[in-house]
Order: sequence, then C-alpha cells, then structure tokens
Amino acid sequence: MAVKSTLRRRLPVAVALLTAPAALVLAGLAGIGALAPIWAVAGTLAVALAVLLILYPHFAHVEALRRYIEALRVAGTSDILPKPPAGRSPVLAPELDETVVETARERQRRRRELEAAIAGNEMILSNLPDPLIMLDRTRRIVRANPAAEALFSGNLTGRDLISLLRNPALLTAADAAVAGQEGKVVEFTLHGEIEREFSARVVPLTTPALDGTVAILSLHDLTAARQAERMRADFVANASHELRTPLSSLIGFIETLRGPAREDTEARERFLGIMHDQSMRMARLVDDLLSLSRIEMQEHTAPTGSADLRAMLESVVRGLELKAQSRRIGFDLSLGDPPPVIGVQDELAQVFQNLLDNAVKYGRTDSKVRVTARLVEPASDPAARRIGRPAVAVAVSDSGEGIARDHLPRLTERFYRVDTARSRELGGTGLGLAIVKHIVNRHRGHLSVESEIGKGSTFTVYLPLASAAAQDAPSRRRVG
Ligand code: ADP
Repeated sequence: MAVKSTLRRRLPVAVALLTAPAALVLAGLAGIGALAPIWAVAGTLAVALAVLLILYPHFAHVEALRRYIEALRVAGTSDILPKPPAGRSPVLAPELDETVVETARERQRRRRELEAAIAGNEMILSNLPDPLIMLDRTRRIVRANPAAEALFSGNLTGRDLISLLRNPALLTAADAAVAGQEGKVVEFTLHGEIEREFSARVVPLTTPALDGTVAILSLHDLTAARQAERMRADFVANASHELRTPLSSLIGFIETLRGPAREDTEARERFLGIMHDQSMRMARLVDDLLSLSRIEMQEHTAPTGSADLRAMLESVVRGLELKAQSRRIGFDLSLGDPPPVIGVQDELAQVFQNLLDNAVKYGRTDSKVRVTARLVEPASDPAARRIGRPAVAVAVSDSGEGIARDHLPRLTERFYRVDTARSRELGGTGLGLAIVKHIVNRHRGHLSVESEIGKGSTFTVYLPLASAAAQDAPSRRRVG
C-alpha cells in the first residue's frame, strides 16, 4: 500500500521531470518542422518509458527500505527483527542496505545489554539486605526496595519520608540532600514492638534520575552490633567485678594479718582459710573464663572424634561423690549402653561435670541426682529432629528447689544467676552453664532445661550419634 502510494505519487513526478528536457527538445524540433509531430510524441513516450524503467526499481527499493525502518520502529523492544528488504536499487550503493540492517542489529544488541543491566540492577536492589529509599525533590518516596517495604510494612511509593521516620536530625539531613546539599550519616532508634537502632545515610545524586529521584536514603541495622558491643562491655565489667570481690577480700585479710592480727595465731589460721577459699574462687573463675574463650574460638568447627558417654559419666560421678556425700546426696545412674557420640571427650566431660556439679550444689540434701541416657530418633523426638539425626539424650535431674520459668531462657548467659549470693556461697562462678551451652553448640547438639519450683530441675543434653551403623539398630541399642 505504502509502496504503491509512493510510487503513485512520486514516481510520475520524477518521470515527468526527467522526461521534460527531452520532450521540450523534441517539441522544438517538431515546431521548426525538423521532425514530424508524431515522431516527437513517440520519442517523448520512449524517453518517458526508459526513465520509468530505470526509476521504478530504485523507487521500489527506497520504499522497501522505508518500510523496513518503519517495521523496526514498530518492533520496538521485540527480540525478533523484521526481515531486511530484498532486491537492489540501481542508484543506491549496496552498502546502504547493509548499513541499515547492521544499525538495526547493533541497536537491538545495545538494547539487550541495557535491559540486562537494568534487570541486574533491579535484582541487586531487590536482594539488598539493607533498606533503600529513593527520594524526590519534595522528600516524597519515588521507590523503595523490598527490605525497606518489609521494615515499614507496606507500599512506600508516594509517601512523604516523615510518615515513616520522624527523627528530626534525619529529616533535616534528608531535606538538605534533596536540596542538593552534602549527604550525611545519622544514627537513630526506631521505636516499635522491638526497638531497633539504625544508621541512616542520605546522599544526593550528582544528576537527578529520570524517575525524579534526587537523593538516596540507605538504612543499616546496628541493633545486633550494638547488642554485641553492650554484651562485651557487660562481660568485661562482670568479669572484673567477679575477680575484684575475692581480690578485695584477699587484700583486706593480708592487711589485717600484717597489722592488728599480726600476733593472733587463731585469727591467722581462720583468715588463711578464708584467703585460701577466695584464691580458689579466683582460680576457678580464671579457669572458667579461659575455657569459655577457648570454646568460643573453636565453636565454628564441629568435632570429628567420638566419645564414650558411659565411661565419661561414671568418671565424672566418681569425682563428685565426696562433695555429694557432704550434702547426703546420692547418684542414681541409668545409662544402659549408649552408642558413641560425635565429640571431644574432655569437652563433653566438662559439660557433665558442670551439670552434675550444679545438681549437687542446688539439689536438696538427702536426695538423689538421677542421670539417664536414651537414644532418640528424629521421627519421634523434636530435639533429634532439630539436630537432624539420631542422638543420645543424657538427662541430669535433681530434686532441688527448681528454677522459675522466667529465668530459664537466660540461664546460659554468662554470669547470669538466679540467686547471686547463693551461687557465690556455693562456690559458683556463674559461667558453668554458659560453658555447657557453647560446648553443646560446638558439638551440634542441643540443651534443654525443664524445671518446676519445689520439685527440681532436669538438664538434658542431646548429642548426635557418631556412626551411621549405630543409627541402623536403634531398638537393639536402646539405652536407659
Ligand atoms: P553457677 O556457677 O552460679 O552455678 P551456672 O552457670 O552453672 O553458674 O548456673 C547459672 C545459674 O543457674 C545458677 O547460679 C543457678 O541460679 C541456676 N542453676 C543452675 N543449675 C541449677 C539447678 N540444677 N537447680 C537450680 N538452679 C540451677
């Protein structure tokens, strides 16, 4: 249709224009009688026909090229390019066609690269763990990444920043950035169900984006880092305080012995006894601190050896028998024949030493501390399911005064005690259960605590079995 119209409109004009000089000459010749008028007409027609025959393929080809370029425009971002025009123009250089087709291909290749780059940027933006918000000149949100939408629960586009964040310093910084002034970093607390601390960076763009973005606000959650900082500071303060108490007592007694009690033999003996206890307490504390830091350093590497629980538990119990007797506490062991577990013998011995020592310390006098071992399967036991394989569960139960429910989640924190004075009086460092937790974690096991006020407590350690062979015959190897 377009070819026809071009040919119909322009071809006759071109033919007429090119034929006109010859027609004029022939008409002139006929006018002076040098040529019969019929020959002049025939000659003009012959010239017109010749011009038409030369011009037609050229016009048709130009039209085809035009249609091709038009088709490229219509094809837009489509992957399929229209077919390049066939045929040749006798007037246009053949390279012209190739240049047009090559330009189209190049354009398509560039567009694909651009689309891939945009998709890549979108993916980065979507997967960025930190919330990112783009602001326009009026401080409205042009767009926000999924992390930002999750943090503020909802679609943020079009909202003023103040509807999300009311911190004055941050809003001032955002206003300055959208006005093209220097970017800033502002720290603020986001109040909500859980308070979170953030560092916000607002930066103006060097050139405004096409979507109207003039500044970017990125948020970084500092809560975990701040908590870790506080925990570290608390830990140093606690450890220093714990060491300071026996140290002050030792200094006090040394001064008394050098001064007023210098000649008092009876007082000296008594004071030396107390000083011995205080130094032992300091030594225990230093030992526990060293154990804890050693275990924490190794926590990310799981042990590979295997440990025999029965022999280990019997040995720990033997070591505690004297202390237990002094409180008229007996042990009741029901271990069966537990299969070997993955573990480092010495570390696991420390776990059970701490648990059994606590059971003796906090158990009721004239009572029993029970130690049981049983095999648990992921199919039937939630703890084994958590571990992801069969495990041996060793439970240490006492019939002491028990622990109130709200203390249970914090028991394994360093220096956390239900009753600090009582723990100190009984020689505790407040680090025993923290050590237990870290060793169990390193062994990829699990620790659970059940307790009832007035009845007693049960600490259960789940440890993954060492070999697959042991997993195959759970019923035969049932323990406890
Ligand atoms: P501690 O050296 O004080 O015993 P642990 O870390 O071993 O430190 O235990 C932390 C706290 O947990 C103890 O101070 C005590 O209050 C409580 N606790 C631990 N084991 C028992 C238990 N078997 N019965 C009652 N309370 C316990």
